[in-house]
Amino acid sequence: MLAAGTAIGQQQFQSDVITAAGGDITMTFLGHGSIMLAQAGKTIYVDPVLRYADFNLLPKADLILVTHEHGDHLDSIAIEMIRKPTTSILLTQPCLRYVPGGEVMGNGDNRTVQGIGVEAVPAYNIVHKRSKEIPFHPKGVGNGYVLTIGGIRIYFAGDTEDIPEMARIDRIDYAFLPMNVPYTMTPAMVAAAVRRLNPKVLYPYHFGNTDTAILLDLLKNDRNTEVRIRNLK
Ligand code: ZN
Ligand code: ZN
Repeated sequence: MLAAGTAIGQQQFQSDVITAAGGDITMTFLGHGSIMLAQAGKTIYVDPVLRYADFNLLPKADLILVTHEHGDHLDSIAIEMIRKPTTSILLTQPCLRYVPGGEVMGNGDNRTVQGIGVEAVPAYNIVHKRSKEIPFHPKGVGNGYVLTIGGIRIYFAGDTEDIPEMARIDRIDYAFLPMNVPYTMTPAMVAAAVRRLNPKVLYPYHFGNTDTAILLDLLKNDRNTEVRIRNLK
């Protein structure tokens, strides 16, 4: 499916529509790791950050997910703009001091929020390190999230490499995998992650200046996975 343009306020974003039980899901790509999902009047945000969109012009959130505390994922000002009294905010322990009222999920936790299944899965670096000892994303701190919405399973990997735990994640329909060095994955790591996850559709995201053509070439024979490049630098 071709990406449609969605105009919200003065902003133009790409979006895709996918069919699900209970109504179509519209995925709107705000940029980098920020994504908005909407189904049947319900709005979900993953890692809403103000530098990618003006959240004053976007719908209020029913559910907000924050993968980890880095500034390109956690933005308490953006969260305040879309928060309403009934909004559920799921986040990691280090995020909590910036977002009062958030609910902490750790790796392996599951819950159902407003009919949406949320599984928190590990997200960490193995190879890419800040210093000799310290990975950019240490194991056990950040989350990826697998959402189940109307029977469709959508995986937002957060900032991670192609970790072995990916092989144990159940069926994934849509996978968002980060691709920028040094913080997350090289194109080769993303290709390895795709072979662990076997998603129907891959969206590389959080890709900065990494050349998406390299990934397309690496996956050109992986016919089970459709790669969609969207405006997710
Ligand atoms: Zn990070
Ligand atoms: Zn990041």
